[in-house]
Amino acid sequence: MAFVTLATTDNYAKGAMVLGKSLRNHNTSKKLVALIGPHVSEPSRAVLRKVYDEVRLVDVLDSGDAAHLAMMKRPDLGVTFTKLHGWTLTEYSKCVFMDADTLVLSNIDELFEREELSAAPDPGWPDCFNSGVFVFRPSNETYGKLLTTCSENGSFDGGDQGILNSFFSDWATADISKHLPFIYNLSSIAIYTYLPAFKQYGRDAKVVHFLGKVKPWDYSYDATSKTLKGQSQDASDMHPNFLLQWWELFSSSVLSLMKEEYGDQPFH
Ligand code: UDP
Ligand code: MN
Repeated sequence: MAFVTLATTDNYAKGAMVLGKSLRNHNTSKKLVALIGPHVSEPSRAVLRKVYDEVRLVDVLDSGDAAHLAMMKRPDLGVTFTKLHGWTLTEYSKCVFMDADTLVLSNIDELFEREELSAAPDPGWPDCFNSGVFVFRPSNETYGKLLTTCSENGSFDGGDQGILNSFFSDWATADISKHLPFIYNLSSIAIYTYLPAFKQYGRDAKVVHFLGKVKPWDYSYDATSKTLKGQSQDASDMHPNFLLQWWELFSSSVLSLMKEEYGDQPFH
């Protein structure tokens, strides 16, 4: 059994490093697997190998498998095909996929008691699940079917979440045990859209998801004052500052690993 993430760029690789460290810090007993694309630089791969048990290059373009064919028909869905490669990890009986922009706040190994496909509701359209955190069973058969759906019908949102919701279309109604509590995929956006609920339940959050255009690595952080540039004081007084937590973990546990690999080269 393994936690699986994906990074196709050096920036998303930073997210994957922080995510991996957060899983380790909370003593997961599962393996950690990072799927990477060919554009991830060698030093970033080396750092990922220090944090993850396995770093697997997934190059859809020269894979020669059905994903390559599907990719030819739908070049717009490149990263999506890479994410679907998780289903080919058949040496694991069960996996939990986590976006590289998620951060773990406590041990979540109990997720492996759930079945495929378990996920939390999407904050924007709760009859759809959010594909930032989900439980799945690797299977070449499922992988093939997913690729067929992908190349024949495309994705209604242009990404993996659309495909996965079309494929696992009975998620909303069939089996309530496949609905993960929202605290396993707390989108930062929900804090603002329903603040009273966040005040009531937010302290139980187990996974934060920095969903949306601006990612934690897009900010700049001052390690001396432990503050972020461009963040208002009000926002940080209002709730536990997950962004700051991400940066604290990055600067305390990831930065030194990156310095070992990058030396004096700039890495951002
Ligand atoms: N991803 C990636 N490279 C990209 C875009 C996305 O590796 O250029 C991966 C990464 O794991 C990311 C996930 O796909 O977390 C989903 O994308 P993102 O988190 O940006 O979408 P959002 O959660 O904001 O909808
Ligand atoms: Mn995400």
